[in-house]
Amino acid sequence: MSDALVLVINSGSSSLKFALMDAQTGDAVISGAGECFGRDDARMSWKVDGEKTEKTLSAGSNHHQEAMDIIVGLIESNQLSDKLQAVGHRVVHGGETFSQATLIDDAVLGQIDALKALAPLHNPAHVVGIKAARQAFPSLPQVAVFDTAFHQTMPEKAYHYAISRQLYNDYGIRRYGFHGTSHYFVSREAAKWLNQAPEQTNVITVHLGNGASLCAVKDGQSVDTSMGFTPLAGLMMGTRCGDIDPSILEFLSKKGLSTDEIHHELIDKAGLLGVSELTNDCRGLVDAAEQGHKGAQLALEMFAYRVAKYIASYMVPLSRLDAIVFTGGIGENSLPVREMILKELAIFGYQADAEANAAARFGAAGQITTQASPLALVIPTNEELVIAQQAMAMA
Ligand code: ADP
Repeated sequence: MSDALVLVINSGSSSLKFALMDAQTGDAVISGAGECFGRDDARMSWKVDGEKTEKTLSAGSNHHQEAMDIIVGLIESNQLSDKLQAVGHRVVHGGETFSQATLIDDAVLGQIDALKALAPLHNPAHVVGIKAARQAFPSLPQVAVFDTAFHQTMPEKAYHYAISRQLYNDYGIRRYGFHGTSHYFVSREAAKWLNQAPEQTNVITVHLGNGASLCAVKDGQSVDTSMGFTPLAGLMMGTRCGDIDPSILEFLSKKGLSTDEIHHELIDKAGLLGVSELTNDCRGLVDAAEQGHKGAQLALEMFAYRVAKYIASYMVPLSRLDAIVFTGGIGENSLPVREMILKELAIFGYQADAEANAAARFGAAGQITTQASPLALVIPTNEELVIAQQAMAMA
C-alpha cells in the first residue's frame, strides 16, 4: 500500500457511498455504503480486508454525520489517519461554473449549492455530505469532481438546443451531459491501449449501465454527448425513456396526467422496463428473450438499435475513429447486447469476434472485434479512481 490514500465520497439524499482508495493502485482499502438515511431503518455496511460489517444507525439522528463519524472511526482504528491525504467528492452538476475538479472552500460550496436549480435531487445531497466531511476532516483538502465537467469542452453547436436563446439565458437550458468521469477514464484507458497520447485519440465511449450515455471524444476532449439538460436524454435506459418527441409531454398533460405523473412515466416506468413489461435488469431480459419473451426481445432490439444510431451519428464530429469503447454494467458484461449493437453497425464493417467478446467480461478489458473489423474495445470503468487521483492532484 502506498502512502497516498484518498477518501472518495458519493453522498446522495438518502445514501452515502464511500471508498478509502489507494490513489496509485486504485485498490479500495475500506469501502462501504449507508442507505435509507432519514428513516428508522437507516443502516450502513462496510468491508475491511474483505470482511463485511453491518450496523443500524440511530433513529432520528443526522445520518450523514453519523456515517461520517463511523468512517472516521474506521480510519483511526485501522491506523490509516496518517496516510489519508485528501477527500474527493462526486458532484453530479457543475453547470457552466466548473470545468475541472475543484478544491472546495466556502465560496465553491456556495456555488455547488446554487446549482441545485439544475440538479435539485443531487447537489443539495452533495452539500450535506461535503459539510459532514469538512467537519470530520477539517485539515484535509476536500475536492469536488463533477459528472458534467468533462463535457464542458463541447462546442456551442453541440450543447445548444434549437430553442429560443432566452431560455438559455434565463434558465441555463442547454446540454450539460453526465457520466463525464467515466467517459474521461475509459477514453484515457483506450488511449493507453492504443498506445497513443490522449490528445491524439478519437473514440466513441459507450457507457451502458442502468443509466446510459455515449460520448464523442476528439483529441481527448468531449465534443458531444447523449445526455442533455438532465440524465433523462439520449439512449433508452433501464427505466428512463431517453429521447422522445417533446410534444408527448403536452399530449399527456392534456390527457390529465400531472407533471409529476408524466415525470414518473418517463423516468421510472420507461426504458427496458417499460418496453419489456418485465424488468430493467439486462441479464433477466437476455434470459427471457432467449426463452421467447416478446417484450424482452423488443426491449433489447430497441436498446441496441438506438445505441448503434447514436454511434453512427458520432462519426460526424470525429474526423477519424480509433475505437468504440464499451463500459458500464451492460457494456462490460453483456455479450449479446454488444453483439447486437455491432451487428446494427455492419454498414461500417463492424464484426464481433465471438471468442474475444466472450473473454471481455467480469472486469477483463480487451478487443471484441475481428481483425478485419474496425476496432471495438471493452474497458471497465473506474470513476472512484478518477475522483481519488484528481483529489490527490490537488492535495
Ligand atoms: P448503474 O448505472 O446503476 O451504475 P451498472 O453500471 O451497475 O448500473 O449496470 C447495471 C446493468 O448492468 C444492469 O442492467 C445489469 O443487468 C447489467 N449487468 C451487470 N452485470 C451483468 C452481467 N454479468 N451480464 C449482463 N448484464 C449485466
